[in-house]
Amino acid sequence: MMFWNVNEVLVLSPHTDDMELGAGGAVRMLVRAGAHVKSVVFSDCKKSVDTSKYPPDVLRKECQAAARHLGIDDLTILDFPVREFPEHRQAILDTIYRLGRETPYDLILATWKGDLHQDHRTVAEETLRAFLKRDATILAYEIPGNCPGFVPHVYVPLSEDEVREKVEMLHSYRSQVEKRGYFEINAIRSHMGYYGAQIGVPYAEAFVQEKTIIRFQRPPQ
Ligand SMILES: [Zn+2]
Repeated sequence: MMFWNVNEVLVLSPHTDDMELGAGGAVRMLVRAGAHVKSVVFSDCKKSVDTSKYPPDVLRKECQAAARHLGIDDLTILDFPVREFPEHRQAILDTIYRLGRETPYDLILATWKGDLHQDHRTVAEETLRAFLKRDATILAYEIPGNCPGFVPHVYVPLSEDEVREKVEMLHSYRSQVEKRGYFEINAIRSHMGYYGAQIGVPYAEAFVQEKTIIRFQRPPQ
């Protein structure tokens, strides 16, 4: 077990709901531990909304509600076109570069470079490119069902209560829960149970460690 004091955290989501699914428990824990968490979402996914049932900004509103639930007060939702991120690769890289210049981040949470969704993969690759030579740890989260071959190295244990809060937060995305049904939320719970079993706790979120720079030192006397 390693305790780590983190001050500045950048959480990158290609679409509304990505980080909530893959890292919602860890993000809440970071907020509670007093870290400043900046959450950036690259697309409000307007094109994916069924406008016969919902207003076009439904996902933006749901994402804001999920952020409030998590205690995040620094949320930016951009409007890159969903499913077209590879064509906007340079603009996405420039956006991430700019974020890195503004703040010295200790920790970046982003999607994984082996994710099958082209938008998730673009954000993962551009995050690595933008931060590789900076002193920030990069952890990649998993979107369950989208990441065959994801082998995690870093685990964040979650209690039953923390999992309950995560599931409650995911219900902020009512339009998605209605579309995909509750089954998927059960799958996410089982997924966290599976990772928990790997480290001997009831639940965990798990991450691929893309980069960490370590300095060893004596504790202050
Ligand atoms: Zn996504």
